[in-house]
Amino acid sequence: MRIDIATLFPDVCETYLSQSIVGRARAKGTFELYCHQIRDWAFDKHHRVDDTPYSERQGMLLMAEPIYRCFLEVKGERKPHVIYMSPKGKTLTQKRCVELSKLEDIFILCGHYEGVDQRVLDKIVDEEISIGDYVLTGGELPAMVLVDSVVRMLEGTLSQPDCYEDESHFNGLLEYPQYTRPEVWEGERVPEILLSGHHANIMKWRRMKSLEETYLKRPELLKTAELDDADRAVLSEITARYEENPKFFGGE
Ligand code: SAM
Repeated sequence: MRIDIATLFPDVCETYLSQSIVGRARAKGTFELYCHQIRDWAFDKHHRVDDTPYSERQGMLLMAEPIYRCFLEVKGERKPHVIYMSPKGKTLTQKRCVELSKLEDIFILCGHYEGVDQRVLDKIVDEEISIGDYVLTGGELPAMVLVDSVVRMLEGTLSQPDCYEDESHFNGLLEYPQYTRPEVWEGERVPEILLSGHHANIMKWRRMKSLEETYLKRPELLKTAELDDADRAVLSEITARYEENPKFFGGE
């Protein structure tokens, strides 16, 4: 996979996306990433890329032409899928990350100031993606969120696929709680079952805890998660337990 990011702050994206798991995956060629300074395609000697909007609004907008030039030169003969990071876009989900991880070529545009001249968005953008219903000052954090979440789905980024297949949102549920050494910390023991070495029981416990976490923290996810009869039976037990004793789950 190749990813290009057009931004006013290429160093910010470069630095973050060269670290840790994502950085190692990039270094070993699991994906290619190029961060481009939009100012390099400005057409005046001051490298100006913004101007005032045609309205009463205060603030500045990124101009169409430098972005368009950047896009044309970077893409060359290729046909990347173009994403504009925008609070108006569809909210990013794990499902969309998995779909995007199957693409070969992605071009990400980061806005800044009040945003971007609509005409260049209409001309080049295939999809607008938001990372949540709030407004940030620029598209760099959203772009890094997108790249991070997409490239961890690529073969070779994580040590094994089940690293992410078990994680929150992959199968529509939240992940079960996890523990590491020591066995007892501040008087709290690791759940006994995790020390038993009984694989089948541990798997059952994980599924039950995953359903419980989801029920408690994001119950609306249960409406769309794929559940079988055994899950539904476990959920009715959890629901009954909660109704009997709300405090058991931290309720009122
Ligand atoms: N005036 C725009 C609006 O109201 O929709 C917001 C512009 S915002 C201050 C500047 C840039 O930050 C946007 O062009 C976009 O690239 C990025 N941005 C801000 N919030 C975002 C979000 N929630 N998701 C994705 N990108 C966002």
